[in-house]
Amino acid sequence: MRQPDLSAARPRPSKIPPILSTTTGRISIVVLLVLLGYWAVWYNNHRTIGWGQTFNPIYWYRRYKGEDLYIPSQALLLHGNRALHEVSLTFDDGPHRESLPSILSTLQAFHVHGTFFDVGENMAASPDLVKLTLADGNEIGDHSSTHLRLPKLSALERHHEINDADITFCRITGKHMHLFRPPGMEYNNRVLKSLMNHGYITVSYTDASRDYAPGITTSFVVDRTLDRVENGSIILLHDYPDTARALPAIIEGLQKRGYKIVTISHMIRDLPPEQRKQAEAFLALNHE
Ligand SMILES: [Zn+2]
Repeated sequence: MRQPDLSAARPRPSKIPPILSTTTGRISIVVLLVLLGYWAVWYNNHRTIGWGQTFNPIYWYRRYKGEDLYIPSQALLLHGNRALHEVSLTFDDGPHRESLPSILSTLQAFHVHGTFFDVGENMAASPDLVKLTLADGNEIGDHSSTHLRLPKLSALERHHEINDADITFCRITGKHMHLFRPPGMEYNNRVLKSLMNHGYITVSYTDASRDYAPGITTSFVVDRTLDRVENGSIILLHDYPDTARALPAIIEGLQKRGYKIVTISHMIRDLPPEQRKQAEAFLALNHE
């Protein structure tokens, strides 16, 4: 005897997840997505690490082990001591006559010092500005000879970009530089190896003010810098007129929050003992 076909009467399983089948469920999902959106915008404005690091378990493991500040195998400074309420102000691309005197007088007015990553050809054009920077108690690091991106160069070209800026600096001051910031912050293992061979600690940054972006306002630079600051931040600024205008409010904001402003060399001396020992041993080996 033929069985009656009951499949038509049986309710078909719904493809909609149960939570979306009710109005309350749908509202909850929308509220959740809106909250997630707000969090993402807030986090982006206040984050002190990149999105890539935020979701990278290896980064968090290294940070847990305290290996996220100074990497001895690459002589790479990524961050200052997280336990100390101090930050560094770094100024790239100078020296520029339109902005440096104003930056220096602001630093002097607030009784703080900065680290300037100068470009060799700019130093050669304005040796008086190099001397003025150092006379105020600030320090100068190497930012290459002509600001070329180092990973794209041949070994010989890279050597000249790194070394010629130091020759210029040495002609002006009689001293050598020991800190380096790669142009555009572009580096790979080959570049880091060359820099180590030249005796440089490579200095990264943690807090980019974006003072180089076209059309930005002073308040944008100030807010962006202050929103992303934390213990041990290395703040990336430039020797530009817009930065010079934003600097008083940046320093005021940092001091209001209780941050001590120190040079990169000071920040290296303030690293936790093990990292400090490794960084200082590297510098001693290459500069004494
Ligand atoms: Zn630069």
